[in-house]
Amino acid sequence: TTTPTDLSRSALLFLSRQEGLKNAATRLGPLRELASRFIAGEKLEDAVEAVRALNAQGLMASFDHLNEAVRTAEGTRDEVREYRRLLARIDAQGVRANVSLKLTQCGLLFDKALALENARTVVAEATSRQSFVRVDMEQSEVTQATLDTVCALHAEFGEAHVGAVLQSYLRRTEADAKALCARRVRIRLCKGAYLENSRVAFPDKRDVDANFIRVMRVLLDSGVYHGIATHDERMVDATLEYAAKQHLPKGAFEFQMLYGIRRDLQLRLAGEGFPVRIYVPYGRSWYPYFMRRLAERPANLWFVMKNLVKG
Ligand code: FAD
Repeated sequence: TTTPTDLSRSALLFLSRQEGLKNAATRLGPLRELASRFIAGEKLEDAVEAVRALNAQGLMASFDHLNEAVRTAEGTRDEVREYRRLLARIDAQGVRANVSLKLTQCGLLFDKALALENARTVVAEATSRQSFVRVDMEQSEVTQATLDTVCALHAEFGEAHVGAVLQSYLRRTEADAKALCARRVRIRLCKGAYLENSRVAFPDKRDVDANFIRVMRVLLDSGVYHGIATHDERMVDATLEYAAKQHLPKGAFEFQMLYGIRRDLQLRLAGEGFPVRIYVPYGRSWYPYFMRRLAERPANLWFVMKNLVKG
């Protein structure tokens, strides 16, 4: 059955992919202001300031320069420059953070070899600075190419410098998790944020959640350092319970959450001694990221409507 929530989720995820709206939205003052709840700012300096504040509260971070589906080779080179600048800044200022990178930001949609070359440059920079690149996962059309690229980089640079993301809504994910763990690839497990059809993804949230727990157990059993990325307390509790049952020390994995979401839970887990990393997006191209955050929670949409009407 399709609920009103499913409909608003699909509509928002559809809108998130409309290129024309992207530019219009960034100029809309009220929308921009609302986006600031989820986005640390438009400039690198804004994001560094936000991460310093998180570090002071005992939270680690992962910077994300917002810009996906880049369409020109020149555009992808700008992204590589930004990430090198970011890694240099992290190193120079000693902030506790790594970086998250999207392969469509590196050219994956039009030139796979270019995407690999660009990502390789970023991972090489991270390696030389003892840092780490998490390759975000995007829509299912690029899942295989993304995992192939991460595995190639992992073979060259090792588990300490590059890792993957898996989404529990995809039917293939449990098998991917086992294969990646066998190679000792670090994984961030999340539920998945894109619009997918039922052929590749579980349409029912209960199945997505059950798969999250199944895959979380595969990860925790693997002896590799993974990230459990969720704001869902039931998923957090299931993870804590399984980790205790397996007698895992607190530093055996980390929790990850998004900037501006469930700050209470972020601080509570950090206060209990678990490593917690916050994903901190910044940049001018915040529209698709912001729309995916709205789609996750209908209450966010009402909040936006009210504010837009108020003008
Ligand atoms: P849900 O069941 O969606 O939410 C549980 C509870 O969390 C909600 O009841 C609410 O209290 C709170 N919550 C969740 N979302 C919001 C929101 N937007 N606004 C306010 N409250 C909210 N997805 C990808 O597809 N690829 C990635 O690479 C990726 N990387 C991520 C990295 C991190 C660190 C995190 C935390 C998420 C990432 N995601 C990624 C997004 C993820 O797939 C989910 O869409 C998102 O985390 C919501 O799922 P949830 O586990 O929080 O559970």
